[in-house]
Amino acid sequence: MATLQLRNLRKRYGALEVIKGVNLDIDDREFVVFVGPSGCGKSTLLRMIAGLEDVDDGEILIDGRDVIAVPPAGRELAMVFQNYALYPHMTVFDNMAFGLRRSGHKKDEIERRIAKAADLLKIAPLLKRKPRDMSGGQRQRVAIGRAIVREPRAFLFDEPLSNLDASLRAEMRTEILALHRRLATTMIFVTHDQVEAMTLANKIVVMNAGQIEQVGSPMELYTAPKNLFVARFIGSPTMNTLRGTVRGQSDNTLLVDLPDGTVVGFDSPARPLAAGDGVTVGLRASHVVPALAGNPALGLEVEFLERLGDRTLVHGQAGGSDTMVASLDGTMAPPPGERLALSIAPGAGHLFDATGLHVPVKGARIV
Ligand code: ADP
Ligand code: MG
Repeated sequence: MATLQLRNLRKRYGALEVIKGVNLDIDDREFVVFVGPSGCGKSTLLRMIAGLEDVDDGEILIDGRDVIAVPPAGRELAMVFQNYALYPHMTVFDNMAFGLRRSGHKKDEIERRIAKAADLLKIAPLLKRKPRDMSGGQRQRVAIGRAIVREPRAFLFDEPLSNLDASLRAEMRTEILALHRRLATTMIFVTHDQVEAMTLANKIVVMNAGQIEQVGSPMELYTAPKNLFVARFIGSPTMNTLRGTVRGQSDNTLLVDLPDGTVVGFDSPARPLAAGDGVTVGLRASHVVPALAGNPALGLEVEFLERLGDRTLVHGQAGGSDTMVASLDGTMAPPPGERLALSIAPGAGHLFDATGLHVPVKGARIV
């Protein structure tokens, strides 16, 4: 078991600060995913937790104990890397036994732990093979097995599925979830893939340029992103963002003008915005529907379609200055050049202020 606390962690490479004061609490048995674009500092942060990178400032507490001065082995964490990092000349068994032999475990105990992990990962038939005689998926299972046999306080995964093809990634995703259930151990999983983050995590940590943008459950981040960065990062297709200008507020409705003359009304914004302010209207592809004839509508100039079968993704221009994707029923196939009239689903629609901060609203409609 392990709880982890990161307190104001900082790290620089020369003049470049890559971790800029990170604070995070991780509960026992939680599945935490660090997600963010390439280069945002995910691996560096994970390696700092593991003890593989020096820390310039801050604290790392594991089960309440500050481990900054504790070398990697003493932290009792196990890390799994994207490139497997197996010893090529050793069998699977020896790869899994290596760390245990070094730490002085007895032969019986090593065999017992390897048999159990091999069973869990369905790699018992591979124990005598060498890594070169195995597929990428099998090698990654062995790398996970090597971590399991150490019975660590917590597992640290750095993009372990990124080298696998799409169908194997999906399969391994569900297996890692099953492992988490069986082992009931804290896991920290790094990925740049928001689908992996959404499907695996109890708690997602969205990172950007060395800082945490938001921490929350997958659905919290999806329904209430704190800012435009998180809104665009979480969810597929990417949230549509249309630039507009505040016209004013009357009663509880805030009116926003889009460049093409469309007016969007937001119900009960949590904060007042001034007339003339630049804002962004956020609409998820699945949160727009064809408008009823005669109703005010947002026009989408169709450019091309992606027909997925159950859904049709309609790509085009909307609002006068932005691209947009609408996810409509799969039977719909509006031809390129057509102007689709759309309305906003009840309770949907997001508003962001000029600085990109989310302004909670009760709903939005075209007026
Ligand atoms: P991520 O895992 O999110 O893709 P990294 O943690 O690997 O990002 O890198 C964060 C930043 O630190 C990047 O700008 C990267 O170029 C830089 N960086 C990583 N390792 C080193 C290093 N050993 N020396 C100098 N810069 C590094
Ligand atoms: Mg990385």
